[in-house]
Amino acid sequence: MSYPASLQKLIDLFTKFPGIGPRQAARLAFFITKDENSLAESLASALIQVKEKTVICKNCFRTMEKNLKDLLVCSTCLSPGRNKTIITIIEKEADLINLEKSGSYNGLYHLLGGVISPLDSDSPRKLKLREMFDRIKDILEGQGQAEIILATNPTTEGDTTALYIERVLLPLKNKYPRLVISRLARGLSLGSELEYADETTIKSALDNRTQRT
Ligand SMILES: [Zn+2]
Repeated sequence: MSYPASLQKLIDLFTKFPGIGPRQAARLAFFITKDENSLAESLASALIQVKEKTVICKNCFRTMEKNLKDLLVCSTCLSPGRNKTIITIIEKEADLINLEKSGSYNGLYHLLGGVISPLDSDSPRKLKLREMFDRIKDILEGQGQAEIILATNPTTEGDTTALYIERVLLPLKNKYPRLVISRLARGLSLGSELEYADETTIKSALDNRTQRT
């Protein structure tokens, strides 16, 4: 006994989402099948629109709304009020939104798009590390100084990623002594993620960041 082919196809698609296993995928698919409020139609149109109307900033890699001028760089990266020599390295978009909400940060961001998993030797290649390196190198060549704030989360993967980045940046550090690398303070308790931290905690983690090199 198996599901109807169209339903099975939807289940298979849902399992491609991060954190969704086959059972959860089946629950979602059945929910849509049984829904009577045109959720499927709304979802289908939202899925198409989000692809049509958003682009990734080619500088920091956050998702941004497409604009009339067809700019490929986001408003944060373009803002004249931002300190362009400070870059905070973050794992994912939700962390960026929360850091931004704290209102205590005035530099730019670099979205890695994930973390290094100690169990997956291929994981560094999936992150925007090369782009990060080139970006920091450009700033140093132009300004002679830069501050990098490592804001990966206080998890095993976040720590592994932060250490990896420090190693990646070592040649730049050797060439440019005015490259400062710091890490968000552990005001964030072990295992707690930026995405869920409140504004006061984020502010204290930023204020008390520890200099690495
Ligand atoms: Zn940007």
